[in-house]
Amino acid sequence: MIKRKGVKIAVIGAGLVGSSAAFAIMVSGLSSDLVLVDVRNERAEGEAMDLGDAAAFIKPTNVFAGSLSDCRDADLVIFTAGANQKPGENRLSLLSDNILILKETLPTLLRYCPEAVYLMVTNPVDVLTYAALKISGLPANQLFGSGTVLDTSRFKAELAQYCGVDPRNIHAYIVGEHGDSEVPLWSSANVAGMSLDDFCALKGIKPADRQDIARRVRMAADEIIRRKGATYYAIALAVKRICEAVLRDENSILTVSGMVNGISECCLSLPCVVNGSGRERELAVPMSADEEEALRNSAQVLRLATKNAGF
Ligand code: NAD
Repeated sequence: MIKRKGVKIAVIGAGLVGSSAAFAIMVSGLSSDLVLVDVRNERAEGEAMDLGDAAAFIKPTNVFAGSLSDCRDADLVIFTAGANQKPGENRLSLLSDNILILKETLPTLLRYCPEAVYLMVTNPVDVLTYAALKISGLPANQLFGSGTVLDTSRFKAELAQYCGVDPRNIHAYIVGEHGDSEVPLWSSANVAGMSLDDFCALKGIKPADRQDIARRVRMAADEIIRRKGATYYAIALAVKRICEAVLRDENSILTVSGMVNGISECCLSLPCVVNGSGRERELAVPMSADEEEALRNSAQVLRLATKNAGF
């Protein structure tokens, strides 16, 4: 008889982001066991019941609400617990409340699933990733943040719309902070191996307005939050994509957030190889002098916020 161990994913925080991520994971059939943990236990129970009702339409998934001890032996822990941005609020303002939650929960989680890969999503995600690495003492590959994976998707969506091509045929990255100091890498952005300007010339359209596109990507969350109060669908699919890269050992290149070498003592996003070991390594992608300078500035913003948070 084939005895194959299933895949267990724990989602800490069953709010809008956590439950949407759980939904995306269930639809993709990535896990056999999915546990939702929230201080509002009824909320987690309600979400698990609602998701469980989809049983007849998806691959069998044991979805349930539980406590931190129910995360025992999880392969992957997704951390979405905490406060989210209010309209007009900056991500860094969420810091003290969310660090407190991290300090309360992470040591217990480590007792139950020391081998899991940990994915931080709660904002400000770069500072929380750094704090979580320090609190947990886990190696840098095993714990990392969703970083600018979402921002990179927004960047590709904007470029794809302008160029009139499938977003999956755009290669372009947002690096640095998941927040106001993020950096679009225009110098390496390409469509089918052609620079953006060459592609636009080929199509007979004006070169893309870089400032306008960068501003729209940077302001995307604020625009959504102003209209509907929170963002959760796209981040849920970003989380699902990262989980897939880890659980299927894909060696995918994703702009996840982690400890970087040689810039500043902080966590930020760069294109990284993501596989079964987690965030395996960052890639030294080519950058123009301006982009390097902007990345150094982003690192300084994050170092200061990290220091102010006591790390
Ligand atoms: P939400 O308020 O809907 O959900 C947060 C949940 O965390 C709540 O249900 C709350 O009860 C729970 N919680 C609080 N303390 C807890 C604890 N100690 N243990 C377990 N659960 C606890 O918020 P949301 O919209 O789901 O956002 C969650 C986080 O994700 C926010 O910090 C938000 O800014 C962040 N976010 C990140 C990205 C990204 O790209 N990284 C994108 C969107 C949102």
